[in-house]
Amino acid sequence: MKTEEKAFALMAIAAAAVGAAAAPATLILFGGTVIPMTAPDVAFEAIAIAGERILALGEDEEILSLAGPETQVIKLEGKAVLPGFIDPHTHLLADAPQESLSVAAAQMQALACGITSAAEMLVRPDELPAFTAAAEHGEVRLRTSLYLAYNDLCGNVFGPWYVNYEPFAEIAPRLRIAGVKVFAERSTCGDERAAISFSDPLRRLLSPAGTFWYGEDRPLFAAPELAAIVSDAAGRGFPVAVHAIGDGAVETVLGALELAGANALALRPMVLHNLFLRDDLVPAFARLGVVAAVESTNACFVDVYDDLLPTLRNTLVRRWGDLVGSGARVVADSDWPWCDPGFLSPLVRLANLVSPMNASSAYASWEPCRPLASTQLVSVWQGLRMMTSEAAYALHCEAECGILEPGKLADVVVLSANPLTTLPSELPFLRVSMCLVGGRIEWRDAEVASQASGSR
Ligand SMILES: [Zn+2]
Repeated sequence: MKTEEKAFALMAIAAAAVGAAAAPATLILFGGTVIPMTAPDVAFEAIAIAGERILALGEDEEILSLAGPETQVIKLEGKAVLPGFIDPHTHLLADAPQESLSVAAAQMQALACGITSAAEMLVRPDELPAFTAAAEHGEVRLRTSLYLAYNDLCGNVFGPWYVNYEPFAEIAPRLRIAGVKVFAERSTCGDERAAISFSDPLRRLLSPAGTFWYGEDRPLFAAPELAAIVSDAAGRGFPVAVHAIGDGAVETVLGALELAGANALALRPMVLHNLFLRDDLVPAFARLGVVAAVESTNACFVDVYDDLLPTLRNTLVRRWGDLVGSGARVVADSDWPWCDPGFLSPLVRLANLVSPMNASSAYASWEPCRPLASTQLVSVWQGLRMMTSEAAYALHCEAECGILEPGKLADVVVLSANPLTTLPSELPFLRVSMCLVGGRIEWRDAEVASQASGSR
């Protein structure tokens, strides 16, 4: 490069940098508690957003000085601002029609719960065109990561159809291919109790009914078979998310991931559900770097297995505290039945992670959930991480989402109060005042809407 060309290039870079710093905020939220989720005691009063990204966090005066004539300024009146919730296991797109909801209505339901990103955790080959069309029509408003199904919940195999796609490619607005979903055991396939598969040592401790149906519900694969599937996906750059409720299935999946080796493990594989975990399985998540995904709502599912778990349930089920304590990366998701806000709501699910009593709404045979063992409770801070920064890591979007930081995407939720200083029993009653995806207000409650018209 000639000297004058170089000088011109440097000037252009300098101009761009100044432009960036001087870019006026498009939206400022002030007068509240902004919790970036970077460290437990870090908080600010205000946040400035420019376009789709976060411009700055700081004290009110400093942030308000970034306002220009066009800036929308909203007073928080003491409300709390957090990273938008990331739900790494949902069926928002696939299940909407079953609930007689449009895709747009289902998305609105999630936004009203403060969810800004979600994984669609089972996409069959025949479903992808409709999801893509919906996104092209602007109906997909959450950032949605698609996991393409290798097989289904009854074990029917679709095969490696994901080879036709690029991992992490955005295929339509707010819709990207993210990974491959594999069922390691069957799930709700003709029998609501199906999909749990016990190891031999545990089977010997089960009631006769338990030993009877173990035979039909063994894992769908031996570890080397599953390892070959995982390796093939990893060879093409796809992470896997593997369904495993029973300890036998979890054992198979962890064994398969270890066999699949470093390439597959570097892609942050997820084991979904992990409802029944033996002592020997818990440390393997941290050792291998496997993400454990748990549901703090449909864990009530465990009551269905009561006759199989005469004495062991309190030491074997819902081991969230043990997983977190082991150093594993643990994420919290809603899964199903998402249509009920009591299940979808991150705040209800947060309450269930931090207090012994389950606050979820009733669902037929799943209730009542017994109290969670005190050793399995996590802190509110940890629970929030499981729904923000840890979930961002699991979905490979931590460079853009999961914490509030200048330069990151402005995916933000505004809550009626700070969850870190709210009593666990009150968490389900916090209200979502506003939900932003990429700096755009996608949902707000009526109260905030009327206040905002008056601005400051
Ligand atoms: Zn699911």
